[in-house]
Amino acid sequence: MSEDEKVGAHGADAGTGGAQEAGGPAFAGGAREADAAAGGAQDAERRRAKEPLSVSRRSLLIGAGGTAALLGLGALRYAGHNPLVRPPGGQDESHLVSACIRCEKCYEACPRGVIVPAHVEDGLLGMRSPALSFDDGWCDFCAQENGGVPLCVATCPTEALALPEGAVAQSTVLGLAVIDEAQCLAFRDTGCRYCYDACVEAGFDAIELSTEGANPQPHVIEDKCVGCGACESVCVSLKAGSIASGATKRAVVVRPLETLE
Ligand code: SF4
Ligand code: SF4
Ligand code: SF4
Repeated sequence: MSEDEKVGAHGADAGTGGAQEAGGPAFAGGAREADAAAGGAQDAERRRAKEPLSVSRRSLLIGAGGTAALLGLGALRYAGHNPLVRPPGGQDESHLVSACIRCEKCYEACPRGVIVPAHVEDGLLGMRSPALSFDDGWCDFCAQENGGVPLCVATCPTEALALPEGAVAQSTVLGLAVIDEAQCLAFRDTGCRYCYDACVEAGFDAIELSTEGANPQPHVIEDKCVGCGACESVCVSLKAGSIASGATKRAVVVRPLETLE
């Protein structure tokens, strides 16, 4: 597959709505009744402020706030922004962050449980927007569960996640796998090929093994890798020795598109 055949995900315009609340005393029969009504309204307001927000109200508030902040900044490249690997259809970062209302439907829809919320340390504006974590699984575009049609995209109510027509796993680049040779067991005496086997099983053949030496070593073929995360999800380097040498991440990690620009 050539670079030109790969399709980045594009968003579509989406809007968010707001909710208005109206209310007030219907009438006042006397000063005491008016005071009681006002006190009751204040109590109700205080109670409401302490209650956790409902998903829909919270989503609207966060979504509207994020959009307003983005418009105010005029750009996404704000201080503290930490690039993330996004679910299919979320590769237009500024569109995702502004259109996502943090409803969490995509997390719930993902049959592999690989969608996680972005944390505040990843950037305030992107907080709780969806990111991919390959700790325990990888994204197969819902091939097993939905015939290759991403359920996260299908369930997103605002098209924050949106794919061009005809986009498939093979043509949608989520990120790029990068091997840290200093931590990879195959570059030591240990030997290992879990990532290679996982990539073959995933159907991408984007890792090749060098033929020299007793232990073949994996190398990512960049224009074949789509960032599915299968290799990262099976990497055993942290469990099998690299952590002793100071590693904090697995030896193969999918890097976000933004870091590759
Ligand atoms: S395409 Fe499917 S497996 Fe991949 S992140 Fe979306 S819901 Fe999860
Ligand atoms: S389903 Fe869409 S709007 Fe809801 S959290 Fe996921 S990306 Fe955001
Ligand atoms: S992310 Fe890993 S398993 Fe997926 S295509 Fe790239 S090298 Fe292969």
